[in-house]
Amino acid sequence: MAVERRRLRVTGTVQGVGFRPFVYRLAVELGLAGSVANDSRGVTIEVEGPAEDLDELQRRLLAEAPPLARIATVDVAAMEPTGIRGGFTIVDSRAEGAPAVAVSVDVATCEECQAELVDPTDRRFGYPFVNCTNCGPRYTIILSIPYDRAATTMAVFPMCDDCRKEYEDPANRRFHAEPNACPVCGPHLSLLGPDGELRAERGGALAGAVAALDAGQVVGVKGLGGYHLAVDAAQPGAVAELRRRKARDDKPFALMVPDVPAATALCRLTPAAEEALTSPRRPIVLAPRLRSGTQPGLPGAEVDERVAPGLPELGLMLPYTPLHHLLMAQARRPLVMTSGNLSDEPIAHEDDDARQRLGPMVDVLLTHNRAIHIRCDDSVVRTREATTQMVRRSRGYAPEPIPLVRPARRQVLAVGAELKNTVSVAKGHNVIASHHIGDLEHLAAYRSFLQAVEHLCGLTGVVPEVVAHDLHPEYLSTKFAVDGDLPTFGVQHHHAHIASCLVEHAREAPVLGVAFDGLGMGTDGTVWGGEFLVADLDSFERVGHLRTVPLAGGNMAIREPWRMALAWTHAALGREAAERYGRATDERWPTVLAMIERPDTILTSSAGRLFDAVAALCGLRDRVTYEAQAAIQLEAACARLATSDAPGWDVDVDRVGGLTVLDASPLVTRVVAERDRGAPVPEIAAGFHDGLGRGVADTAVALAAEHGLDTVALSGGVFQNARLTEVVARRVAEAGLRVLVHRLLPPNDGAISVGQAAIAARAG
Ligand code: ZN
Ligand code: ZN
Ligand code: FE
Repeated sequence: MAVERRRLRVTGTVQGVGFRPFVYRLAVELGLAGSVANDSRGVTIEVEGPAEDLDELQRRLLAEAPPLARIATVDVAAMEPTGIRGGFTIVDSRAEGAPAVAVSVDVATCEECQAELVDPTDRRFGYPFVNCTNCGPRYTIILSIPYDRAATTMAVFPMCDDCRKEYEDPANRRFHAEPNACPVCGPHLSLLGPDGELRAERGGALAGAVAALDAGQVVGVKGLGGYHLAVDAAQPGAVAELRRRKARDDKPFALMVPDVPAATALCRLTPAAEEALTSPRRPIVLAPRLRSGTQPGLPGAEVDERVAPGLPELGLMLPYTPLHHLLMAQARRPLVMTSGNLSDEPIAHEDDDARQRLGPMVDVLLTHNRAIHIRCDDSVVRTREATTQMVRRSRGYAPEPIPLVRPARRQVLAVGAELKNTVSVAKGHNVIASHHIGDLEHLAAYRSFLQAVEHLCGLTGVVPEVVAHDLHPEYLSTKFAVDGDLPTFGVQHHHAHIASCLVEHAREAPVLGVAFDGLGMGTDGTVWGGEFLVADLDSFERVGHLRTVPLAGGNMAIREPWRMALAWTHAALGREAAERYGRATDERWPTVLAMIERPDTILTSSAGRLFDAVAALCGLRDRVTYEAQAAIQLEAACARLATSDAPGWDVDVDRVGGLTVLDASPLVTRVVAERDRGAPVPEIAAGFHDGLGRGVADTAVALAAEHGLDTVALSGGVFQNARLTEVVARRVAEAGLRVLVHRLLPPNDGAISVGQAAIAARAG
């Protein structure tokens, strides 16, 4: 039988996922000679043996790859056989060439490691840093590539003999598990007081933290991508105290629950929700809350109302690090686990910084000496009947590449928007989006943004040839791009929204894009946010929009929805009705009304602000303490009502200067009339949602027909609203068109950098 030698270059997510040990075992089983190595592009295999066995190796490489591996390409080259039958080896990493490799995401503790954690005879019994090639920290501990222990924050822990043996034994689950550790050689826990004084170590630290939780105290916990603040979710005093110390009024807190039964005692979980909850990515899952007391006697069925004030959903997650498993096994009830920061600042992840910033907020700090190199917040998904929608794509998802249909013509750095910022790079056939960075209004967040840019470029080896940015000149991300030395490429905000949706659906042909969000800089001197675009990845044309109203007071209009209610009342019903509303609402109304009537006040077509206005008109909220709070409460108000075609909830459609204008005034008029006659708020909220949804769908269908398009794409933060999305998507589909909605990426500004990167990668 002919002996051949081949070189296989494998690209994709193949480092840090147990790929080399897998290749080793396969080659040994097939009796092949050669070697496998990580390199800067992925994994290179050189292998020699009978042609049939080589074919078999290639087949099984794809069929049996480890669960976390994602093979993108395998290039095979024939080589001269050497005749050497010296077995198969794993060779050291080489740092040659420009890195193009995808680094693995952080992965929740696997079942085998969980079993060791609770086995009294195992040498890692109760050890909070157990991991293997199938689980553990990756993205958050890697300093540079190739991925090797020396290039992680584990480099400072030399392995003991036992760990080293596992690491070097090809038959072992920890063969080349870079963060491998045990109680003898690895990191350990410490419990610190608020001033950083050491209170206990190892098992004593864990026990001390659990005792503090029992006593209703605030405990800082160092996690995978940053610190959490934890309290017992059932103790009202503890939850209230956490809100006070964090300076966070109403924004909901996430909960960590011990297991699935504890989750189902709190929320109604669809199969999709349960799948997301238990997946190795372990996001926070938003699910409808069961009314308290419906399942008496179940442990953990009660959580304090202040965990998620006024909302019908709770955010739940399961333990995802060994430390969480140990903590939850002792606490045995839901814990609030919210990011360790003062309201709106980035999550703390560096130890000195955490001691400084969190010290004043905590009673004790449960920490350890394995450094987190890059912060990574928990991801958030919202589940509907059969589907899962991303709300925040971060830990467990970043930096997984998103494929491009056409390869990038140049290497791009895209710096995203202002709120919910992420950054992305495009290179070759991929866009790679960073973790969630947050709102760039604070210096601390901007610093975190700079770190993310450096980390992402370093891990992907991208040397940007162009920096893509938003058109808004005041965004710190825009300023970063414009003030830098590289060529820049401005991308209109709503074009980026639609583009991000096209990327995840691998869509090349133009679509009718509906981009509904808060605010984004337009190209005509108004602030956009309710847009109908004919768009592909190369260009866009605005063909319609929501009727504009004055944005009275810039950022104040976001924080105080009553201002938008005043503007919409004025637009729909005139001055007298606006005066009446103003008098009943806020003493500053004459100033705001004057602003509304001034011709130079900036106009906005924002759909998000329309929702704010209607929420305020319904009496739900005149002021918000976090972005989109009023709109979220408006959706929540009608969560229990089925959608309907109730008559009289209609929009007007006009044609102004060649553009289709969807006028929501009739809806606003009806809202005011229903309020005046004392109709229940849930019915008003439902009528508004369904009426607007029908108007949006009909407008999209008409515009698609006019421009010869067969597909409608929905993007922008307003499409986090499940009811609106459902009404629009169903009606567009009923008209025979295809509907694209987000699945992999959030519809909100977290996806903007992906859209920017994809657009800029095509140009030039
Ligand atoms: Zn494991
Ligand atoms: Zn060890
Ligand atoms: Fe947006």
